[in-house]
Amino acid sequence: PRYHGAVSIQQLPSLLINQIAAGEVVERPASVLKELLENSLDAGATRLWVDIDQGGLQRIRVRDNGSGIPREQLPLALARHATSKITSLEDLQRVTSLGFRGEALPSIASVSRLSLTSAVADAQSAWRVQVEGSADPSAAEPAAHPIGTTVDVAQLFFNVPARRKFLRTEKTEFSHLEEVARRIALSRFDVGMQLTHNGREVLKLAQGDTAAARDQRVGSVFGQGFLEQSLHMQQEHSGLRLSGWLSLPGFARSQADLQYFYVNGRMVKDRLITHAVRQAYADVLYHGRHPAFLLFLEIDPELVDVNAHPAKHEVRFREARLVHDFLFRSLHRVVAQTRAGSVAATAP
Ligand code: ADP
Ligand code: MG
Repeated sequence: PRYHGAVSIQQLPSLLINQIAAGEVVERPASVLKELLENSLDAGATRLWVDIDQGGLQRIRVRDNGSGIPREQLPLALARHATSKITSLEDLQRVTSLGFRGEALPSIASVSRLSLTSAVADAQSAWRVQVEGSADPSAAEPAAHPIGTTVDVAQLFFNVPARRKFLRTEKTEFSHLEEVARRIALSRFDVGMQLTHNGREVLKLAQGDTAAARDQRVGSVFGQGFLEQSLHMQQEHSGLRLSGWLSLPGFARSQADLQYFYVNGRMVKDRLITHAVRQAYADVLYHGRHPAFLLFLEIDPELVDVNAHPAKHEVRFREARLVHDFLFRSLHRVVAQTRAGSVAATAP
């Protein structure tokens, strides 16, 4: 029976507020890893160590050698809407960090047993705080840790059985985790990364930003076959810069799985981008075949809105037409060259 009495509006408790936000930001273990790695990169880390147990359901741990978090700020890092990355609307409109919402850590903490350990330069000691699916972190305790941060997320969704039910097998969840690690690894050639699963080494990428080191990383992540059957390209026009690797038509795949696109270092999925690439390849690919690419677009941050989605997978371009046409023209030129038999696609 419907109740027709006066409504009673109540402020929700903060744990529940965080859990509601977690519903958007933390879909599965891989989303946790993405947020943690983005935080490490924003903290200036040049090395990342990732340890996963049981497809991330038991544990997702990320250690970095970034700036660290001072002791007195540890509770703030776990507080909702607290961030060191923006302070004003102007900052938001030209944000260059990967994070800015101040939501990831409190959301993750509300659905897991999380510990945050960090050391900053010149501090006597490292400090650790813990949260067990509650709203309030424990008091900071001294810990041993080199300069940088470790976030340890254990027993994800232990207090949200409904969410746990939607998770797939350990193997499937790990493949999503690995995908996130690859995407991040390809966004920053200057950052080293190690990944283990159940104690076994899965990925080990040395840092190195020379052309040879970049090729090597692309080969080990996308496969040697891609590297051999792709062209490196670079184009610039009216403040837009596109660079990266593009498969030759002969390398076309039956799935659109090797399609990585970054806007100012942020991996995005975007209809406009997909459309421009598709059009560029239209003449050379059979129906149902997909090109592979790894492309980086650099654009004035004020011309992209990155605040379009809680998980930040999507962006909006202020001048969508201009971006689309630039992508299409740049890619089409390279693709056309491959048809003409010329392989010298790298711009002079
Ligand atoms: P956001 O990244 O949007 O700011 P998060 O909840 O992901 O929000 O993180 C909150 C804050 O905690 C960050 O703004 C940052 O100051 C700090 N932080 C999180 N992870 C790290 C890390 N690995 N190294 C240094 N600081 C971190
Ligand atoms: Mg973040």
